[in-house]
Amino acid sequence: MRRCPRMPPQIDFALLAARLHLLWRRTIKAVPLGVFVVCVTVAVWVTAFPALALRSAEVVGPPSATGADTPAAPLDQLRSRASYWRSGDERTLTYWINLRSFCHTEANPDTGCARADGISANLAAAAQDWMDACPDCRLRFERVDRKDKAVFTVQYVTRTRDSPLPPRYVAHAFYPFSAKTSRVLRISSRYRTDHPDYDAVGVLRHELGHILGYTHEHAAADPKQQTTCGWTGERLPAKVRAIAVTEYDPQSIMHYPCGTSRAKATFALSPRDIAGHRALYGPSPSP
Ligand SMILES: [Zn+2]
Repeated sequence: MRRCPRMPPQIDFALLAARLHLLWRRTIKAVPLGVFVVCVTVAVWVTAFPALALRSAEVVGPPSATGADTPAAPLDQLRSRASYWRSGDERTLTYWINLRSFCHTEANPDTGCARADGISANLAAAAQDWMDACPDCRLRFERVDRKDKAVFTVQYVTRTRDSPLPPRYVAHAFYPFSAKTSRVLRISSRYRTDHPDYDAVGVLRHELGHILGYTHEHAAADPKQQTTCGWTGERLPAKVRAIAVTEYDPQSIMHYPCGTSRAKATFALSPRDIAGHRALYGPSPSP
């Protein structure tokens, strides 16, 4: 069993917690919150900022969507406008799992630490799926043991009255254009590794899709498509625009469950997702 870090005993916990909480609330209020969607059982929330998306934010979204009949953007336009991890140096996406956030949120810290082990394994599997989708994209996700060496932090968030997350979320992420202090992948206490309605690795694949720059496919879809799939009214934040990387794909990993896939939210990479991802991150095609 993993040993959990323990806080020094002589600190005034109540005072420290009150101060940290106040600072946290102020920080959250300063952050524009973006897409907030609730699906049948999975609520995934993404902080969004100005950028390019698949419908990539001018915020980038991956294989994304600008409507069923909207052609994908030419590759040169896409790569010049999209918000994504451009250089080779940027493409090693290191992450630090804040074990304290897991271990110290339970009456029994070992229970929380055990949950961290399960989520860590699922996150590694989800990351591997993205890397396998494009072996020559030079994208790597790598866990590190120190926050100052990490591109982003993985944080566990419990459901409390003062939680910064709406109560129905399972997880939420960020985009490449997000400020460094906002690069946090939050895992809610609603997340379950054995949930019957969604694939636990799939939820994290979807979140990593946001981190790679991909917006929600269904938010960019034609309104008729949204209705067909049971998603109506979701819009990207005002400051976020999306760039289509592929044609609209209701089976996209970035689409909330649609049609037959609603039986269980698998959030698998579709063939079109993989093609779009390779177009954005892959080697430039020969002239
Ligand atoms: Zn999402």
